[in-house]
Amino acid sequence: MSLDLTTTIEHLYSGTPVYKNELINLLKCEDPQIIELLRSKANSVRQEIYGTDVYIRGLIEFTNYCKNNCYYCGIRRDNLVATRYRLAPEDILSCCDEGYKLGFRTFVLQGGEDGFFTRDKICHIVASIKDKYPDCALTLSIGEWSRADYQAFYNAGADRYLLRHETACKDHYSKLHPENMCLDTRKECLFNLKDIGFQVGSGFMVGSPFQTLDNLVEDIFFLAQLKPHMIGIGPYITHKDTPFRDKESGSLDMTLKLISILRLSHPKALIPATTALGTIHPNGRELGLKAGANVIMPNLSPASVREKYMLYDNKLSTGKEAAEGLDELKKSVAKAGYKVVIDVGHSKLI
Ligand code: SAH
Repeated sequence: MSLDLTTTIEHLYSGTPVYKNELINLLKCEDPQIIELLRSKANSVRQEIYGTDVYIRGLIEFTNYCKNNCYYCGIRRDNLVATRYRLAPEDILSCCDEGYKLGFRTFVLQGGEDGFFTRDKICHIVASIKDKYPDCALTLSIGEWSRADYQAFYNAGADRYLLRHETACKDHYSKLHPENMCLDTRKECLFNLKDIGFQVGSGFMVGSPFQTLDNLVEDIFFLAQLKPHMIGIGPYITHKDTPFRDKESGSLDMTLKLISILRLSHPKALIPATTALGTIHPNGRELGLKAGANVIMPNLSPASVREKYMLYDNKLSTGKEAAEGLDELKKSVAKAGYKVVIDVGHSKLI
């Protein structure tokens, strides 16, 4: 077993700064003993801070219209094969009713960047959910807006905001997105959200086309600078109706390794075992928990639209992935050694 890498893991664990080349070596490493050491350290940090608790979030995918054209994403504007839908405010509220009964105390509204949902409409939806469920946290994941818009969402009652930076390298960013999208804007949005007072989540796809190990290290360093409350990472998965249709998907092992590295460097962060992780491996979510994740986001969208929010091929939305499959999820989480709890599940960073 490499002593150098053992030291790197020790440094991550103790919060001692770690150099780029050390991280690259750790990302390259295939030694099962080192990988197991990394995983078990990350798991013990997560146990120290969050015990065996797993927080659940009810994910409501309320629109798949999107003005953006990200090359990797199945709901990109130019995917003319996608069947588009948007939920009415009453439908969104009934998802919350359903979710509340099941034990969810956080709702996440995610969607494409859909001009139909103006600032006022979003504020109205946020306020009506918070009015009915003041004991729940509300998370938005609706892309890039102005600082004034974010402030309005916050004032209306939104508590958290998820906006993955996708990749922290400008050059890589430009290979994943058309010219009108820019990494600086995305980063500015994240710092604005944080400044306003949101609990902020960021993250990236693992194994996205053209990604290098250097890029991943930049992602790790960017997150160290941002210090988000939540970090969502998942494997990139190919979608057949995008320009990246011929590109390979990201790997389970690299995603798990990165979850562990991020848990060690952000002990108090909320880290989901994502749907994408569950999609590339039948046991992906449980493996994610064992690697340091502590959040799961089952799908609370109406069954009739789930198939349409297809960010990537074969995206899971039934069984353990579905809010109504919560019993099954609880069992599999328990089998992995953890416990799904009914809790608003704030980050211990605040
Ligand atoms: N419009 C919102 C939500 C985007 S979808 C926003 O801009 O934040 C949520 C996340 O799904 C994205 O941030 C991206 O990281 C992920 N995603 C999109 N396409 C994907 C794919 N093909 N494989 C894996 N993850 C993907």
